[in-house]
Amino acid sequence: MKHSLHDLAIFGGAPAFANPLHVGRPNVGDRAALRARLDRMLDDRWLTNGGPFVTEFEQRVAAVLGVRHCVATCNATVALDIAIAALGLSGEVIVPSFTFIATVHALQWRGITPVFCDINPQTHNIDIDHIEPLITSRTSGILGVHVWGRACNVLALADIARRHRLRLLYDAAHAFGCSAEARMIGSFGDAEVFSFHATKFLNAFEGGALVTNDDGIAEQARLTRNFGFVGEDEVSCVGINGKMSEASAAMGLTSLDCMRGLIAVNRRNHECYVAGLADVPGVRVAKYDDQEENNFQYVVLEVDDSASGLSRDRLQQILRAENILARRYFHPGCHRMEPYRTLYPNAQHSLPHTETLCARVLLLPTGTTVDRSDVQKVCDILRFAVANSRPIEVKARTLDHLTAP
Ligand SMILES: *Cc1c(COP(=O)(O)O)cnc(C)c1O
Repeated sequence: MKHSLHDLAIFGGAPAFANPLHVGRPNVGDRAALRARLDRMLDDRWLTNGGPFVTEFEQRVAAVLGVRHCVATCNATVALDIAIAALGLSGEVIVPSFTFIATVHALQWRGITPVFCDINPQTHNIDIDHIEPLITSRTSGILGVHVWGRACNVLALADIARRHRLRLLYDAAHAFGCSAEARMIGSFGDAEVFSFHATKFLNAFEGGALVTNDDGIAEQARLTRNFGFVGEDEVSCVGINGKMSEASAAMGLTSLDCMRGLIAVNRRNHECYVAGLADVPGVRVAKYDDQEENNFQYVVLEVDDSASGLSRDRLQQILRAENILARRYFHPGCHRMEPYRTLYPNAQHSLPHTETLCARVLLLPTGTTVDRSDVQKVCDILRFAVANSRPIEVKARTLDHLTAP
């Protein structure tokens, strides 16, 4: 517990945690099960190229999601690239700037102009009312992102795409195990892409997948993933090496085995944060729709500094000193990162909600390495900081001044 300003680690007190709490610390499932799979893989000397674990992983992912095809890949960035090619996207694609940079890079790599669309400040997802004015004769598709695993407005997006004959692709990197309209995310649009990166909800060390109900897209994705090979000596298109390894699939299967337990832990932590911060002015934990499935992988704090008295960045500084390594996502927004900042220097003027949110969001640690009492401690520090915002701000400014270059 912090009782005075001197107890805060930014002012020289002992950090609340001896070992850092991380955002996105990998969750590791049953080690014995993983080791058994890895031993089998080594015994069989089948390390990649469509081995039994990748095949099983694809089948189980497709079954969990209720989708016809799962094409597993080495990561989600490459899955996006493959999806963009398989959908035949070109010209311009409408995409939110409030996303991880890979979403936009995947378009840029294929020579496509990303057209940034603002977000809805309540859902943090692409604002359906801002899409149609951005459509031009060059627009070939919409790339929606289910940010924090909370679904885009899938019905409205399907309608816009149909009326304008646009392709609809989803970056579902955050959304494994989440649903929309009582259907698992994975079967919306023409295709959806998941990430199984170590920091994501379902971890395969590195990994991704393109999922779709469209046989043609799935076939094209399978070819592109493997250099375009259709037979031993025949190549059909500009392919890439997008294969998932057997070791990754073994980890992915092990993660699938423990997925329910992981959701329960994330959900408990999320509930503890919501309850623990309910009475703290100016900070709010983003809620998930309890009518839908959620993975609760992201504890998203929104800071309103006019009410908290402390900016998001000041709160991050206070938490970091306590060894609570809270993260700003997605800061400063793709449109403010290169090469997009230089290519589209005026983008921020049409993205007011994105700009605001990029300055307000702070992700808090969760997952299996964080327990209820850890969450309680994080909440207590936030409560103490906000309650003492004025003297903290005065004292911290002096420190900023001393440490300024
Ligand atoms: C993590 C992430 C990606 C990239 O996933 P990788 O598997 O690391 O390539 C893409 N989009 C979003 C929204 C992400 O969070």
